[in-house]
Amino acid sequence: MTKILSVENVELYYDHIYALKGVSIDVAEGETVALIGANGAGKSSILRAITGLRPIKSGQINYEGQRLDGTSAAEVVRKGISMVPEGRRAFPLMSVKDNLLMGAFTRTDKAEIEQTLENVLTRFPRLRERYNQQANTMSGGEQQMMVIGRALMAKPKLLLLDEPSLGIAPKLVQDIARAIVAISRDEKVSILLVEQNSRMALSISNRAYALSTGSIALSGNSKDLMNDDRIKAAYLGGE
Ligand code: ATP
Repeated sequence: MTKILSVENVELYYDHIYALKGVSIDVAEGETVALIGANGAGKSSILRAITGLRPIKSGQINYEGQRLDGTSAAEVVRKGISMVPEGRRAFPLMSVKDNLLMGAFTRTDKAEIEQTLENVLTRFPRLRERYNQQANTMSGGEQQMMVIGRALMAKPKLLLLDEPSLGIAPKLVQDIARAIVAISRDEKVSILLVEQNSRMALSISNRAYALSTGSIALSGNSKDLMNDDRIKAAYLGGE
């Protein structure tokens, strides 16, 4: 399978904190890859490295066969990489509609933007119902759907999701998991899913990497990892 993204031996620091200690991961076209790990393992740092929000110290990142590290965050979006940040970062005082349209800031063709908007509203009917509602009056789960919709408005080739289940009611976590599966099935998009909810992430991904204090501890097929005793003990609550 053709790789859309490869992160090779990446090291990343915050002042004296050594957050990524030579991390290598890759994502093939059409694949959903999960990145699991505890608080502070470095999951968000990998996304920051990919999106150009934080420079890497060494290693390299390639996207569609070209060097990506060193590219500005805005240019990364133009190349087709969209991120759904942790904590749902909506524009709180803007309507659902305007939040969604902000996601299309790199695009110019109005008719195509309208078409994507229609697709997003069909995928998330709740957003159509709440179209003119102010974002900060939406529930946590609704806001999560909205920021996923906003990321889709850029028509990404690679979608990065940072802990979409964080702080969401269990019932809605299932809805979000289903939405991610449907997006992977219907859109031509590869997905890198960062999650502390390892069970959910493993259940909807093709492959996964387990990160532990800045290094990849284990990786493989998600179904195999779900039955791996080391994963069960460390990431699935020992069940
Ligand atoms: P979480 O699930 O809690 O978000 P994470 O796996 O995403 O955790 P990172 O946010 O990547 O972890 O953090 C990795 C390490 O880098 C942690 O030890 C964290 O304290 C440290 N770190 C992250 N951001 C900064 C920063 N801006 N300044 C200093 N240290 C940082």
